[in-house]
Amino acid sequence: MSPASAFHKTRIAPTPSGFLHLGNILSFAITADLADRHHAATLLRIDDMDRDRADQKYIDDIFETLRFLAIPWTEGPRSTSEFQQSYSQLHRLRHYEQALEQLKPHVFACNCSRAQIARESVNGVYPGTCLHKNIPLDTPGVSWRLITDSRELTVNTYDNGVLKATLPADMQYFVIRRKDGFPAYQLSSLVDDALYGIDLIVRGRDLWPSTLAQLFVATLLPGSRFTNSTFYHHALITEAAGEKLSKSAGATSIQHFRKEGHTAADVYSMAAGMLGIHTEVSNWKELAALPPPNGSGPYAALT
Ligand SMILES: [Zn+2]
Repeated sequence: MSPASAFHKTRIAPTPSGFLHLGNILSFAITADLADRHHAATLLRIDDMDRDRADQKYIDDIFETLRFLAIPWTEGPRSTSEFQQSYSQLHRLRHYEQALEQLKPHVFACNCSRAQIARESVNGVYPGTCLHKNIPLDTPGVSWRLITDSRELTVNTYDNGVLKATLPADMQYFVIRRKDGFPAYQLSSLVDDALYGIDLIVRGRDLWPSTLAQLFVATLLPGSRFTNSTFYHHALITEAAGEKLSKSAGATSIQHFRKEGHTAADVYSMAAGMLGIHTEVSNWKELAALPPPNGSGPYAALT
């Protein structure tokens, strides 16, 4: 693939709710490689909006692991303290609140408990229990859900194509403001991408529903440049490995391998091995150059 489009900025956006693992590394390697090819900037954006799960040891781990693996980034924090002083999502709350204000005509408040949602959901789909309850939005402890529909969404793809899709069923009435009043991931992620001028978003195929959810939100935010973003959804390392890599699974965390005395090249080779390719890989450039598992391109079987 050699797109004619020029990209200016992409991002590496880990969530500090677990130690980085082999699955993350593939994503970072592909991001670094595409940035390199397009002479684009790379922002390190640590998504710490999930206040219950974000932990400083995981933020430290992000910096340690990126340095250990020599994965470059050109913008964003260089250390945990710099992150906390200037780059935490807590510093951008007013931007998220501004977007939530604009979205008010398109949301409803939901006071369902987790147990209630589990009980009433069919195949994991929230059935819209509170849609017509007219619960005031400023009620303490309610989440805000988006009034979703089956509008057609347009996704710009890296190969200069366009995919048309609708919101997946399990994203029906998805939450954009959580019960604790903080923005949900779908909202903070798209607001940040627009704010920082990200025009190439690289992420795993597991985040395809998120891409559609975020594009849906963007259609409700007049003038949002997020809709112009290009998306590169790469295959997951788990698809070849045949088992779900859990972030909490210490066995695949980079930190675990580092402490065992493995080198960066060992870790890259292990990541390649999980793609089913048993060869020596010494850096991110070589890892990114490996063929995706099962010959699947970035857009195979998305829609
Ligand atoms: Zn509800």
